[in-house]
Amino acid sequence: MPRFIAILCALLLLAVTAFAVPKTTKKRSDSGGTASFPRLVFAHRTLANGLQVYSIVDHSSPTVSIQVWYHVGSKDDPEGRSGFAHLFEHIMFKSTKHMASEEMDRLTEDVGGANNASTADDFTDYFEIIPSNYLETLLWAEGERMGSLNVDEANFKSERDVVKEEFRFRILAPTYGRFFYSLDKDSFTAHPYKRPGIGSIEELDAAKLEDVQQFHRTYYRPDNATLIVAGDFDQKQLDGWVDRYLGSVAKPSTPIPPRHGPVVTPLSVAGLSRQDRPTRQCPAGRARGPWPLLRHGLSGQRPQAGGGGEGVDDRGRAPRRKPDLGG
Ligand SMILES: [Zn+2]
Repeated sequence: MPRFIAILCALLLLAVTAFAVPKTTKKRSDSGGTASFPRLVFAHRTLANGLQVYSIVDHSSPTVSIQVWYHVGSKDDPEGRSGFAHLFEHIMFKSTKHMASEEMDRLTEDVGGANNASTADDFTDYFEIIPSNYLETLLWAEGERMGSLNVDEANFKSERDVVKEEFRFRILAPTYGRFFYSLDKDSFTAHPYKRPGIGSIEELDAAKLEDVQQFHRTYYRPDNATLIVAGDFDQKQLDGWVDRYLGSVAKPSTPIPPRHGPVVTPLSVAGLSRQDRPTRQCPAGRARGPWPLLRHGLSGQRPQAGGGGEGVDDRGRAPRRKPDLGG
């Protein structure tokens, strides 16, 4: 290659590289060594029915992510009815007034997207990732299951059987399944974190449809939920769709039960190292005994509501609706 052509190519390459500066750059802070990132710009509003809405516009990919977080988790399971929040993680994928069972899968997976849900001590969350031209459809679908889920005998019984099978698969079959299952259950004397998130076969069998319907009426409502939409959309158009499909879900007149129980004194256990011990009184609703900390150390994962031994996904959360072996 002639020398001047080689120099020209080098200059062109330099020019292209110069314009390919990434949007996110790292720089050292004054204190040294800390990376900085672009500020996350989001909008927030509260609808008249109490639904909290957060939105983040990001046109870097023609996709959008929708999350609905219900502020109900395993700690809210009724006494003697453990596993209800997890049960609803499954029932929420069944039929609604205008959707057939599992239609959420058809609306997401059939267009190249994905969906799932998880249950923890304090919340249950549902999400979809889809091409952005399906945003309106999925907001409609989220409004459907928030406002007109069919909590009937057929959906209850079919998902109870699924959860019972999940219990056998995750707790009874693995070598240490029952050991991890017992840790939270036997670590707390009074705190609701003692309830195993996955439930128990005996308590699930004892549950009646009316119990499940009461639980649903109490917690699955717009004023007990937060919607997050992030991705490729127009803010004004999103606001209109959210008002139409989720703002129209009625807010019940009954109050949401208080979220925090009484202050609980943490257990005192001799023989644990200083860092394993709770060092101060935990605030109401957050008191933990030392066993979950130990479990954390054993498993390398933070304590979860799912009951020991359950799969925790890569975000460190509790049982996915779709574990590796289905269900
Ligand atoms: Zn499950």
